Amino acid sequence: MARVESPEETVGVPIDQAGRDPSARARTCVGCREVGDPTTMIRFVRDPEGLTQIDLRHRCPGRGVYLHPRRRCLQQALHRKSLQKALGSRIDSGDPEEWMERMRTALMVRFQERLSLARRAGAVVSGIEMVRRTMAENLALLVFVASDSSEGTARQVSSNAMRKGLPTIDWIDGRQLACAVGLEYLSALAVTREPFASDLEVLCTPLTKEPESSRGVHE
Ligand SMILES: [Zn+2]
Repeated sequence: MARVESPEETVGVPIDQAGRDPSARARTCVGCREVGDPTTMIRFVRDPEGLTQIDLRHRCPGRGVYLHPRRRCLQQALHRKSLQKALGSRIDSGDPEEWMERMRTALMVRFQERLSLARRAGAVVSGIEMVRRTMAENLALLVFVASDSSEGTARQVSSNAMRKGLPTIDWIDGRQLACAVGLEYLSALAVTREPFASDLEVLCTPLTKEPESSRGVHE
């Protein structure tokens, strides 16, 4: 396979052209208490009514606390009431599934933003033919195949990518994939540069239906 994310690429190191906030420092997850890159975490704030809310774009003023977008971290945070304690807030639901759904929505917003940035940086190729060619040239780092693609060729791209050991995301539908690229529908898309590939993979991987991936989990 092509390049893997290098361990030297430290979290929290600002990379402006990748759209990361230069002031962003590593944050502690209130679930597992490990330190992580806020770019790939969910930020929670207390709203004017005192309720705990997800800050979709990490731009709400005031104190924020961060959580990895993982089921396990969420459960730890809910169990210990970490969000409420840290923010002095209330929560309107203690149901992990409800919060998983909200985190999925939040991640989709962040995913669209990151993908759009990656595209503007020239780090995205779209369409089955281009994705195929990019994989053949070993330039793809991360591959997306639309969940609702009916084309057999899309499935070929998917199995081809898996054979090459490329991380492959196949639960996002073609409309959502296309949105960030300014099209109506896309069957496949590949990301060709870091840190976009790693960031997008982290944003997409934790909330898939499968149990948590072991990739990138440091334990
Ligand atoms: Zn965590």
